[in-house]
Amino acid sequence: MNLTNIGTVKDILGRHGFSFSKGLGQNFIINPDICPKIAENGNAAPGFGVLEIGTGIGVLTAELAKRADKVAAVEIDTRLMPVLEETLAGFSNIKIFNEDVMKCDLQKIIREEFHGLKAAVCANLPYYITSPVIMLLLESRLPVESITVMVQKEAAQRLCAEVGTREAGAITVGVNYFGTAKSLFNVSRGSFMPSPNVDSAVIRIDVNKEPVLAPEKEKFFFAMVKSGFSQRRKTAANALSSQLGIEKQKIYDCLRELALPETARLEQLNMEQLLDLADRLR
Ligand code: SAM
Repeated sequence: MNLTNIGTVKDILGRHGFSFSKGLGQNFIINPDICPKIAENGNAAPGFGVLEIGTGIGVLTAELAKRADKVAAVEIDTRLMPVLEETLAGFSNIKIFNEDVMKCDLQKIIREEFHGLKAAVCANLPYYITSPVIMLLLESRLPVESITVMVQKEAAQRLCAEVGTREAGAITVGVNYFGTAKSLFNVSRGSFMPSPNVDSAVIRIDVNKEPVLAPEKEKFFFAMVKSGFSQRRKTAANALSSQLGIEKQKIYDCLRELALPETARLEQLNMEQLLDLADRLR
């Protein structure tokens, strides 16, 4: 079944009485070049189990299942279950979980479905939860080698920005802490049905095998980053003293040890400086 053929897609959705939900970020891929490219760049290969988030009618799911040993996919919309039964009927290596990705036990899914396989995540993410999903995947330390996702172009720029530049946000620091992000290719709005108001891009995060910091240090590091980036215009000293209750003089001393001015803002620090500052402040 050609799931990028507009006629075929309209026919299937029409027969199932399906209407797109804007709230669930339902923009399905109809450009035939995109899903094979995501799969090929996203570790969908022999020896891998791929976790997909948000199947839609299964256009990416099918490309993943053609290449990987196993696909486990989480889709919140119950109305899509009978659609997927039809569109993915030819595959025996796909398991669909009709659940909310933010609430289900992804560790368990990977452990039980990908026994003995390496794991990766591939998805055309629902835009309304891009950052929470990416942080959930990273913070829960899923044993995955890579996370390859389509996101809005602006989100891709932020995720792949260099820490310490204006484009970077707390999420950029998070991504850089847990791995390395790279923008792979852009996707125009016309590649989707219905067409969204923005263009998209596919990025891949290669996930670090070992955590950079011990759990306690990590907790403090992210508390510091969140306080600093939630008040971007404030100096690091003002933001951290008001939010974390650290004495200003202590912050000034630590900044001086790092050869940074007292007026430095947290968003101006690079990854190494952020890690160093957190270590000294703790
Ligand atoms: N992969 C399909 C494609 O590329 O055509 C669909 C992508 S569409 C952008 C996002 C999908 O995520 C939709 O099918 C939507 O129902 C699903 N979704 C939205 N929120 C979700 C959630 N919290 N948990 C799981 N799936 C979700």
